[in-house]
Amino acid sequence: MGKIRITTLVEDTADKRGFLAEHGLSFWIELEGASVLFDTGQGNVLCGNARRLGINLQEADAIALSHGHYDHSGGLEGVLFGEPWKRVYAHPAAFSPKFVRGPGGTGREVGVPLPSELKARYQAEPVWVEAPAELPGGLRLTGPVPRTNSFEDTGGAFFLDQGCTQPDMLLDDQAAFLETPAGTVVILGCAHSGLVNTLDYVSSLTGGRPLHTVVGGTHLLNAGQGRLDKTVEALRRLDARRLLPCHCSGLMATARLWREFPDRCESCHVGKVVEMAW
Ligand SMILES: [Zn+2]
Ligand SMILES: [Zn+2]
Repeated sequence: MGKIRITTLVEDTADKRGFLAEHGLSFWIELEGASVLFDTGQGNVLCGNARRLGINLQEADAIALSHGHYDHSGGLEGVLFGEPWKRVYAHPAAFSPKFVRGPGGTGREVGVPLPSELKARYQAEPVWVEAPAELPGGLRLTGPVPRTNSFEDTGGAFFLDQGCTQPDMLLDDQAAFLETPAGTVVILGCAHSGLVNTLDYVSSLTGGRPLHTVVGGTHLLNAGQGRLDKTVEALRRLDARRLLPCHCSGLMATARLWREFPDRCESCHVGKVVEMAW
């Protein structure tokens, strides 16, 4: 017996009464014998959406961060507030200073917005993920994703300093995955390492098992036609049964994926549940 049930707690869109959307991502992942909170959104809507869904965030056995950008990590403080310690699985670089270059050339802060003493507290007892790792319930994290193909531009206007001189390679970027008899389920944060790089890496970590479901941000919002063409080609090769591109995927890329894979794409608004049992 096994199961995975993924509920979208935070996403850029909401389509049901009472749910609130924000630019961000958070999934509640229920597994056999454990629950994992994967990302926390910005922190404005996480707790309210969870309450409305009947999900008690304090029951999480672990929290995992896909990376340190505010739209994935900002809710951390609210989840941990007043609670005993919970394990937070993240790459150390998730807690680096993070900036995005604005139109004027100066950096806008986009890192984990935590007071320094909380930051210190997390760093005192985190679970650093610098290689593939296993979470409670058998969920796995990729750790840093090798950037193997040439067509995915994994750069961007991301920097480690306000003056925007040191590029942030986002080494903290990682995805979660679970092998099921029907194929592997992959949960993405922003896929800053590239959607295809991430999926290829998950395939290699699972001995080439087929992919079943891919859900989360694909960071294709600035992708040109060439990259989109190659991404579609790779998705045909990888043959995932179900695709739920959301968050930072961008309208153009999302529309393209829906057109190319009309029977496989699903929306991923707040409250969406993806469930498998075996
Ligand atoms: Zn990001
Ligand atoms: Zn994001």
